[in-house]
Amino acid sequence: MDNTALILIVITNLSIVLILGALTFLIYKLLKQKSSTETSDNLAHEYHPAIKQRMKDLNKIKLTRSDLFCPNHPDEPGEVSCGICDRLFCKVCIKPYKNLHFCREHMPLIMNKEWVEVLTVKTSTQDPEEGVRLYDEKKRIFQDLDIPTFIETHYKINVDQDFIETYLVVFSLLDNFEKVNQEMNQFK
Ligand SMILES: [Zn+2]
Ligand SMILES: [Zn+2]
Repeated sequence: MDNTALILIVITNLSIVLILGALTFLIYKLLKQKSSTETSDNLAHEYHPAIKQRMKDLNKIKLTRSDLFCPNHPDEPGEVSCGICDRLFCKVCIKPYKNLHFCREHMPLIMNKEWVEVLTVKTSTQDPEEGVRLYDEKKRIFQDLDIPTFIETHYKINVDQDFIETYLVVFSLLDNFEKVNQEMNQFK
């Protein structure tokens, strides 16, 4: 009788130990899962606001077929972009002029109108993004304000320091000079 009672007590104790062990393991797993999701959340919050904005912008850009193929020849891939409208055209639809290329619509504008220099931006290794921002601004002015501009790239060899300097020169129609000058004020 005493033996049976003893065995029962041992079994009960073992069961309690096993159940406690299982519970501890479960709680440990739950806590671990929670902390790992917290870590990934923290990482997302740590991105610089500019990077987060850039990621959002990238999601917005969905290239359609008309962005990659010539607008006049839907079966021909676009190869060169027009210096004014920045759309891609096939070789038949775009011609070189002044180190740039222009589409059929914009070539007459380039050849027959009077263009003036608005500003020159010297690209520097300290701010390599400035050139990109200048091109973005040029596109915005064309798309939002319907004002044509083009950007020429000029190179100068710096003999003293033996490197090539790059200058981006923005041109606008004489009639739009004031407006473009004002819009591009941030680059002065
Ligand atoms: Zn064009
Ligand atoms: Zn074409």
